Amino acid sequence: MKAIEIQGLTKTYANGVEALKGIDLVVEQGDFYALLGPNGAGKSTTIGVLSSLVTKSQGSVEIFGHSIDTALEAAKSCIGLVPQEFNFNQFETLLQIVVNQAGYYGVPRKEAIKRAEKYLTQLELWDKRNHRARELSGGMKRRLMIARALMHEPQMLILDEPTAGVDIEIRRGMWDFLRTINQQGKTIILTTHYLEEAELLCRNIGIINKGQIVTNTSMKALLATL
Ligand code: ADP
Ligand code: ADP
Repeated sequence: MKAIEIQGLTKTYANGVEALKGIDLVVEQGDFYALLGPNGAGKSTTIGVLSSLVTKSQGSVEIFGHSIDTALEAAKSCIGLVPQEFNFNQFETLLQIVVNQAGYYGVPRKEAIKRAEKYLTQLELWDKRNHRARELSGGMKRRLMIARALMHEPQMLILDEPTAGVDIEIRRGMWDFLRTINQQGKTIILTTHYLEEAELLCRNIGIINKGQIVTNTSMKALLATL
């Protein structure tokens, strides 16, 4: 079973923009996969379809063997999404944000608090648990979104431009964290438009341009061609 298996995926938005023009993509379980491409290439749309924030036009999408057409809830529970924009309630405390997230997935409150301590600690945010999210720096907000995405303990983490606007010190810390959880077995997909970031972290890479995958290879093989 693959972590992700996409065949012939297309997406045409209501305004007629063909954001995806027939994408085939396979991501193995345990992989650290980069989706690299310029602005407007279709990265966010692809991630949107995987996380069911965007409805597809055509094609098939399976997530850990669950089709998004016939087993959407099961497919969704495999994914922890870290979107680009800060979409948490800024007036809630960190603890409220992550515990509520677990609640959406039916995690009992006691267990949710246990997990909150675990993930907020790993992301160096536990000391700030009773602060409102609005008081955090940009890098901390980014880490809060990672902690939130882990609360239902999904097999896979999908991050959309996770280090955009994050300074280099914090970026390194995030990279270390992602590497560690990948080594522990979590499948990770991230979008980026920095080849350097993909090179440092990822085992396999898909390059997307104008709604099509133009290259899909191992990072080693790609670097050998440069
Ligand atoms: P990327 O994440 O690689 O920058 P996107 O997936 O955001 O690319 O965008 C792909 C194309 O789809 C772009 O031309 C973008 O303008 C368009 N697009 C993205 N979202 C929408 C939307 N909600 N409605 C209409 N067009 C969109
Ligand atoms: P609020 O308290 O304002 O509803 P939330 O943090 O609960 O803010 O969520 C904001 C939006 O983001 C909601 O629509 C929620 O469904 C969505 N959301 C929150 N966390 C995730 C996640 N990990 N993956 C996908 N969507 C999420």
